[in-house]
Amino acid sequence: MAKVTGTALVTGGNRGLGLEVCRQLGRLGMRVLLSARDIAAGAEATAALRSEGLEVTFEPLDVTSQESIDKLADRLERQGLRLASLVNNAAIALQGFDASVAERTVAANFLGPLHVTERLLPLMEEHGRIVMVSSGAGELEGLSPAIRQRVDPPPSKEELVALMHEFVDDVRGGGYAAKGWPGSAYRVSKLGLNALTRLLAAELKPRHLLVNAVCPGWVRTRMGGEGASRSVEEGADTLVWAATLPPEGPSGGFFRERRAIPW
Ligand code: NDP
Repeated sequence: MAKVTGTALVTGGNRGLGLEVCRQLGRLGMRVLLSARDIAAGAEATAALRSEGLEVTFEPLDVTSQESIDKLADRLERQGLRLASLVNNAAIALQGFDASVAERTVAANFLGPLHVTERLLPLMEEHGRIVMVSSGAGELEGLSPAIRQRVDPPPSKEELVALMHEFVDDVRGGGYAAKGWPGSAYRVSKLGLNALTRLLAAELKPRHLLVNAVCPGWVRTRMGGEGASRSVEEGADTLVWAATLPPEGPSGGFFRERRAIPW
C-alpha cells in the first residue's frame, strides 16, 4: 500500500484494536498519537511501538472527562499540530444492566466520541478522516419501531444527546422496555454513535471531512473474548482503511470488511 502522511490520533490505544490500529497506521507512514486514560499502560504501549521503529507519541486522554479532552486539545494546539485522522476507538462493554451501567456506557461510547470529535474539529485537516468504531450491535435491524423512528433518520444533534439521556432516565425509572428500548446499554450507545456519524458526516461535508462508522467484526480482545472469530490484525483492517481514505473516499457510511453495511 502507498505511504500515508500526516498525524493520526487514536483513542483507547493502549490495548486491543486501538493498539493494533496505532501499529498499522504507523507502518503505513503516519505519525501516531496513541492516547489512553491509563498513563502507565499508554506509555508502555507507546514504547513497544517505538521499539518497532514507528513514530508514536503518547497522549493521556480519558474520553469521559471534558477536562482531559480540553488538556489534550490545548497541548496539540500549542504544538501547532493538525490531524489527518481521528479514530474514536475507546469504548466499554460492562456486565449487567442498570442505570449506572447505562450512564457509564453512554458516557464512554456515545458522549466520549462526540466530545472528543467536537473539541478536536478545529485541528482537523481538510479531507481529514473521522472514524467511529461502532458495532453490529448498533444496527437498526431488530429495533422496536418506537425507538427506530427516533433515530432513523437521525434527529438533530441536541435531540440525539437528549435521547441518550432519556434512555438512561428510562432505565433508572424502570420504564425502558415499555418505551421500546433494547435491554443493552452497549447496543443503545452504538445505535446513538451510528446516528451521530450520519449527522457529523452531513455537517462536515462542506469541510470535506470523511466521517464513517466501522464494525471490526468479532475480535479476540479483552472485550471480544478469546473465543472470537477474528484476530486484532483482521479486526483493525477496516478501521485503518477508513482512517486512510483518499479525499474522494466515502463519507456517512457504515462499513465492515471494507464493505458498506446497512445502518
Ligand atoms: P478492549 O476492551 O480490548 O479495549 C478498549 C479500549 O478502550 C481500552 O484501551 C480501554 O482503556 C479504552 N477505554 C475505555 N474507556 C475509556 C475512556 N473513558 N477513555 C479512554 N480510553 C478508554 O476493546 P476492543 O479493542 O475490542 O474494542 C475497541 C473498539 O471496537 C470498541 O469501540 C468496541 O466497542 C469495538 N468493537 C469491538 C468488538 C470486538 O469483538 N472486540 C466487536 C465490535 C466492536 P483501559 O485499558 O484503560 O480500560
